[in-house]
Amino acid sequence: MPLTKDNSILIVGGGTFGLSTAYHLAQAGYTKITILDKGDSIPSPLSAGNDLNKIVRAEYEDPFYAELALSAIAEWASNPLFAPHYSQVGYLLGNSAAAPEKSKRSLAKSLASIERHPAFAKQITAINSRDDVRAVAPALDGPMDGWTGYFNRLAGYARAADALRSVYVAVKEMPGVDVRLGRTVVSLNHEDGNAGLAVGVNTASGKETYTADLVILTLGASLANLLPSIGQQITAKSWLITHIQLTAEEAVQLEGIPVTYSRDLGFFFEPDRQTGLLKISPSGAGFTNRNNGISVPLEKNDFVPPGEEEAVRNILREHLPRFADRPLVNSKMCWCADTADSEYIIDFVPERKGLVVATGDSGHAFKMFPVMGGWVRDLLEKGQQDVARWRWKEGNDAAAAEVSWRVGSTRDLSEVL
Ligand SMILES: Cc1cc2nc3c(=O)[nH]c(=O)nc-3n(C[C@H](O)[C@H](O)[C@H](O)COP(=O)(O)OP(=O)(O)OC[C@H]3O[C@@H](n4cnc5c(N)ncnc54)[C@H](O)[C@@H]3O)c2cc1C
Repeated sequence: MPLTKDNSILIVGGGTFGLSTAYHLAQAGYTKITILDKGDSIPSPLSAGNDLNKIVRAEYEDPFYAELALSAIAEWASNPLFAPHYSQVGYLLGNSAAAPEKSKRSLAKSLASIERHPAFAKQITAINSRDDVRAVAPALDGPMDGWTGYFNRLAGYARAADALRSVYVAVKEMPGVDVRLGRTVVSLNHEDGNAGLAVGVNTASGKETYTADLVILTLGASLANLLPSIGQQITAKSWLITHIQLTAEEAVQLEGIPVTYSRDLGFFFEPDRQTGLLKISPSGAGFTNRNNGISVPLEKNDFVPPGEEEAVRNILREHLPRFADRPLVNSKMCWCADTADSEYIIDFVPERKGLVVATGDSGHAFKMFPVMGGWVRDLLEKGQQDVARWRWKEGNDAAAAEVSWRVGSTRDLSEVL
């Protein structure tokens, strides 16, 4: 039966994919949209997007994603809902002298995806020496000896939590949208054969059931908790996100610095203009939390795995040595859903009528926030996934995959804690 604007649609997970999907569906005139999220507020503490900032850039090894990211950047720059949360400070991407070959190869491919693209004409500057770094980012006064890469002006960062909050506020005012927070969805059932789907929900005060014609699962890294059959296709992986507190004077000195990513070490952003917090995240292949072969996020994530503090201090020593000993604050592990090929999964679940997943962000989906919900709407309206790479892929083993742009190897938290 073709979808109509009056079909009831339940979005489980009001994070990045979930809010964007609600926004695009409501804008297109769908009138019965309910969002359920386990958090008591949006952004939920468990959302990967609940973060001071995220990188917004369009270089990808794969031109398909480069084009999508360009369309997202156009929205970040011009749509009044998103533009207040976007700063186009540029992106300084490179490798330290000690970087492994794999990291250098990946960087060369990223650059190739954009250097001849007309959108990037006059936007890219090669960085081959310490003086080249100084020319584009004079405030970075660390050694950076032998650091090479490039500076891309058509990029920057989104204030991620703020953007999620704005879209949440906009979406709940849109006709036909109902948002229920503090709802932990714990089960998923087909009701009497074909009359829609039902989800079972735990709340602080008891249990509820919601039914809908269509259920869209946008639970990010937690999806396998509810849909174990996807557990082979996605692996929950986490990385440390931490900050140092700068004084107002120190923050001004770093205002407008590009997002700086030394592929082999990690990345950091300009200090937040409200709070003076400077966010840092070390590189690596991430940490899993395996149980019975499936990795899902931990509930409590405010810890720093052994070795990660030293990795953060290395980033500071290389780029901003005057802050190398500053205490780390607001540290947490942030979880994403990795797939074997880093492709998103946006599709109907086979053999489960009316059940859709939008997941597999693989750590690179926040930048797509303004546009990703449109891909989910397209899927619902076409009734099938025409984009082959986003289909449900039985047999893909995300856990065994090696991701080209990540250095090191994935470790399970049970090995290090
Ligand atoms: C360390 C790190 C750094 C990143 N940096 C970048 C970057 O710089 N640029 C970029 O583009 N992307 C980045 N990403 C990726 C980006 O954050 C994710 O791709 C994106 O946020 C994933 O969105 P999602 O909707 O799939 O999941 P989420 O945003 O995590 O949303 C999932 C939602 O489901 C809810 N939920 C979970 N379980 C239940 C349940 N049982 N019942 C109800 N609700 C539930 C959660 O509360 C949450 O709100 C990064 C990711 C990580 C981990």
